[in-house]
Amino acid sequence: MLQLEQISAGYGNILALKEVTLSVQQGEIVTVVGANGAGKTTTLKTIAGLMHPRQGSITYEGQPIDNLPAEKIATLGIAMVPEGRRLFPDMTVYENLLIGAFNQKDKAKVKQSIERCYHLFPKLAERQGQLAATLSGGEQQMAAIARALMAQPRLLLLDEPSLGLAPILVKTVFHLIQEINRQGVTVLLVEQNSNMALKIANRGYVLENGVTVMSDSAQALLKSDVVRASYLGE
Ligand code: ATP
Repeated sequence: MLQLEQISAGYGNILALKEVTLSVQQGEIVTVVGANGAGKTTTLKTIAGLMHPRQGSITYEGQPIDNLPAEKIATLGIAMVPEGRRLFPDMTVYENLLIGAFNQKDKAKVKQSIERCYHLFPKLAERQGQLAATLSGGEQQMAAIARALMAQPRLLLLDEPSLGLAPILVKTVFHLIQEINRQGVTVLLVEQNSNMALKIANRGYVLENGVTVMSDSAQALLKSDVVRASYLGE
């Protein structure tokens, strides 16, 4: 479904990704784990078209996308949940969700998507009239995921969904990601919480200083001595 081939990308003099090759098959949950500054967010931003690679190619469903603008990539069925949620704080939950459906002109379909989100996240139905700024961290993460789902993506990019959440909420969010995947959405998940991410993923990549140092089935990575010592704190 998605293929990154030898992607290099960066900011000014900083090369944040160095020849990263990565693939995602339809239906999978794939995770990219790594420490602070490894290049995880840059990987997602490059796929979503928020920045363009300096080198290499990105193909989505057989089509090159590395030169397309972000808004065009969004229309192809890729949605991103950014790190830190980035909700519109002075707008209600409902209004934030509507923004996620900006590409959908059919009001009946928008309503259907809202219903689907409320079914998946009943808390958001209860809080639909509440300003996003007043939601708890966990509720904000759910609203950010729901907003991305409003675009009916086939590929969902998630940037550190567990960041800043209490352990019990982290579990909830990861269960929801699995449920979204079961409903047919392919997931590329970037996480510092390697343990939880690898537990729900089919496959994983380990990024270190912009370089892919390992890639394997999630189960194999969970068992690997290097991953256990460096990323799982064991
Ligand atoms: P974190 O988990 O801390 O978000 P990350 O793995 O997502 O880390 P990136 O945010 O992709 O890492 O950063 C990769 C490298 O690029 C880092 O060295 C970082 O300092 C640098 N970088 C990221 N954003 C910018 C920017 N806007 N301008 C300059 N350098 C940046």
